[in-house]
Amino acid sequence: MEKITGQRCRYCSRMSPDTVCRDCILWQRKFDGDDPLTENYAIFTYGELMQAMIAKWKYRGDYAVGHAFRYAFLQGFQKKFGKCKDFVAVPIPLSADRYKERGFNQAQMLASFLPANVSEALSRVSGEKQSKKNTKTETICPKSISSQ
Ligand SMILES: [Zn+2]
Repeated sequence: MEKITGQRCRYCSRMSPDTVCRDCILWQRKFDGDDPLTENYAIFTYGELMQAMIAKWKYRGDYAVGHAFRYAFLQGFQKKFGKCKDFVAVPIPLSADRYKERGFNQAQMLASFLPANVSEALSRVSGEKQSKKNTKTETICPKSISSQ
């Protein structure tokens, strides 16, 4: 796994000699200054090994693979947010079907690695897999809104 080091894009976290990478400049133009992504902080580059690990962990349900991220995830969190206090981690929920199929929520697993309270404050309105989200609209809402 290759850690992201040195200069990175302030929006997407990709290693970049520029403050904002070329892709993010294009996205900002596309959204005309209203890009919903305000910031992403990544720990590793998304190369072949990472793709294979994510596939095994997230798509083939191998829970143990997630533990390979524990130390680096905590270290990256502390580097980025270590001066902040009173964290609440809010994992993105899975659909009931996906949770049943996989047996765990990878976002909950990552949240459990952090020195933070974990809040299940969101619920999934539609149950489509993320990989199929181009076929149907998917909405994740705060529970108080989605239960209305
Ligand atoms: Zn970028």
